Amino acid sequence: MPTEKDIRKFDGPKTPFYYYDTDMLNRTLESVTSESAKYGFHVHFAVKANFNRRIMETIAGHGLGADCVSGNEIKLALETGFKPADIVFAGVGKSDTEIGYALDSRIFCFNCESVAELQVINELAVAGGSVASVALRINPNVDANTHSYITTGIEDSKFGIRMEDLERAVSFASESNGLKLRGMHFHVGSQILNLNVFRNLCVRINEMLNWFDSRGNFIDVINVGGGLGIDHSNPDALPPFAEYFRIFGTMLERKPHHKIFFELGRAITGQSGSLITRVLYIKEGENTSFAIVDAGMTDLIRPSLYQAYHKIENITSAVGEVRYTVAGPVCESADVFARNIPLPVTRRGDLLAIRSAGAYGEVMASRYNMRDLPGSIFSDEAI
Ligand SMILES: *Cc1c(COP(=O)(O)O)cnc(C)c1O
Repeated sequence: MPTEKDIRKFDGPKTPFYYYDTDMLNRTLESVTSESAKYGFHVHFAVKANFNRRIMETIAGHGLGADCVSGNEIKLALETGFKPADIVFAGVGKSDTEIGYALDSRIFCFNCESVAELQVINELAVAGGSVASVALRINPNVDANTHSYITTGIEDSKFGIRMEDLERAVSFASESNGLKLRGMHFHVGSQILNLNVFRNLCVRINEMLNWFDSRGNFIDVINVGGGLGIDHSNPDALPPFAEYFRIFGTMLERKPHHKIFFELGRAITGQSGSLITRVLYIKEGENTSFAIVDAGMTDLIRPSLYQAYHKIENITSAVGEVRYTVAGPVCESADVFARNIPLPVTRRGDLLAIRSAGAYGEVMASRYNMRDLPGSIFSDEAI
């Protein structure tokens, strides 16, 4: 947890800002790499969770690959030390420019979401004299039991190829000169804490392996996606990587030639970041006291968008206990970080840490209300 001393040593930087705990990030990465290495798994960082350059460089330094969802993410991954052979490109709406850039960059594989997309990648690859490796994103119809905005693997989700269309997609990919069918790709949702969801996913993947086998289609890449959640009520805890990888290690009916890919975002950076904000005003409401802070939904949109819970700590005061609704300055009723939570007696000028904000935080910041974008500071930064 960031302490007042940690923050003050930066001599009162302009709040709000993201504070990244480098030690926590390194410990998380050490756990990911050692637990996944037990089974020879390849872990790719889902860049969309946090594309802060220093975070990307740290992750590349630990030898992970990158899972990108735009051409700009591919460009940044290459600039921050990820090798082309460790980059995969996903996304339901890849533009021609992005596909061309990915082909020129010689990334490892495209995760494809429709027959129409396969046709475009094939045309562009043939035109440029190259062959694109592709994995088909299959909609496994496994319910992630999470918020509907972050559930992606059920029927009628815009993501993935439906079983009915799979035959056509496989035939097209196998017969096209510009494509090489390498594997299958899944991703069922995000912030998944019930590990049974991943057990169900393994059962579906095994069924699909049999399906490919029975048709005589050779594939060597099984990309199981990401989605492992973090414990928001315990922001100093690492995600359960050992148990998570053990599920896939014991359940997948894997052959020696299969490469198993993971795409983790939130679990890698989520617990390493806090949004630091200053209390501007204390205001009495009818049934609650408001702590109006200088961070808003423009800095961290998750509570407004997903009703996400983030633990909030007052890092400058520890005396007493009062209930506050912590709200931002943006002109939207949804601009509230938490309602009626217990905090020490809080005053104007106090600093609050909104925890577990290292994934889908800084990257989703906007300039609505013409607000400044939040800055970022690392715990080990030279001062
Ligand atoms: C968002 C996303 C991920 C990462 O999800 P997390 O919940 O952050 O682990 C992985 N793969 C795909 C295809 C995604 O869209």
